[in-house]
Order: sequence, then C-alpha cells, then structure tokens
Amino acid sequence: MEEGGEEYLFKIVVIGDSAVGKSNLLSRFARDEFDQNSKATIGVEFQTQVVEVDGKEVKAQVWDTAGQERFRAVTSAYYRGAVGALVVYDISRKTTFESIKRWLDELNTHCDTTVARMLVGNKCDLENIRDVSVEEGESLAKEEGLFFIETSALDSTNVKTAFEIVIREIYSNVSRKVL
Ligand code: GDP
Ligand code: MG
Repeated sequence: MEEGGEEYLFKIVVIGDSAVGKSNLLSRFARDEFDQNSKATIGVEFQTQVVEVDGKEVKAQVWDTAGQERFRAVTSAYYRGAVGALVVYDISRKTTFESIKRWLDELNTHCDTTVARMLVGNKCDLENIRDVSVEEGESLAKEEGLFFIETSALDSTNVKTAFEIVIREIYSNVSRKVL
C-alpha cells in the first residue's frame, strides 16, 4: 500500500466461447502481443496490469480461462470476487454471439449485478467474413444493459479502450461505494 493512498486491485474476468480471442485480447492488453497459433490455453490464470484512473494507480487483475470454456466447465472460483467482465464473441461466427446470453446467465449465477460488463465483438479485422452486424451487437448490449465495443486483438483496435472503459466503470462503482 502506498503511503497515504489506497490500493485498488480489480479482478476482471474474460468469458465467451472457445476461440473467440479471449487469450489474445488479454495478451494484447497486458503485453501488446498477438499469437497467431495460440492454443486453447496459455497456461496462466491471470495477468496484472497497472492502469491510471483519475491520477490513481489501479491494478487490473485480468483472468483468463485455461480452456475450460470448451467443456462449459468454468468454475465458480474463476468468477469469485470479480468486479468486471468482458463477455466476448467473434464477429465472424454467429454461434459465438448466440452463446452470449448463456454466458451472461452464468455470470449472473456467480456474481452480483454490480459487476461492470462489456460486450465485446472481437476480430473486427475480419470485415470480409463478418457474420454479426454492429447493430446486432449494439442492440443486444442495450437490451442487456452492457457497454459495447468491437475489437481486434490482431490489429489492436479498441483493445486497451475496452479494458479501460470497464476499469473506469469499476472505479466509479467503488467511489460510489456500490461494491
Ligand atoms: P480463446 O480460446 O477465446 O482464448 O481464443 P484465442 O485467443 O486462443 O484465439 C483463437 C484464435 O483466434 C487464434 O487462432 C487467434 O490467432 C485468433 N484470433 C484472436 N483474436 C483475433 C482477432 O482479433 N482477429 C483475428 N483475425 N484472429 C484472432
Ligand atoms: Mg484462451
């Protein structure tokens, strides 16, 4: 803990179907790296990234599933203590978008409603094979009360912004003592 200051550590989970790009969003955010051949697991539980909000240092502890989502077996330990969530689909695969409601149900089962949520349409670089329109994403987000953004872990579009919006929202929840 810094002298005279508070320390903020926010647990954020990244969820969504297998191969939507969760691990790559995280490695782009934390290390500015992209892995074309990434396997279902990268073998780490979480990565911590320091972000500045309102002149304060905030540690974002971002959790990545180790491939359990393939078996619909993400455990409650994964969600425990989370204050933010990125719920990710792949804009080139409609089925991953259709799964979003199920992921939201799961999130609601494990976490309370104050969790800051962002709907993320990843792989927006794949415009030529787009299968989910921007409007569909927007309208689902509106319906479910989520922030919405399209990202590309491949070319970096909006990745930092996606995490930063969630972190700012968590921070403002904390400031209002909602958590
Ligand atoms: P996860 O299973 O959700 O963690 O997905 P990964 O991060 O392992 O990515 C699955 C596959 O999609 C890999 O082959 C990645 O290279 C690819 N991928 C991830 N993000 C993007 C992206 O933004 N654009 C494109 N074109 N491919 C991506
Ligand atoms: Mg992964």
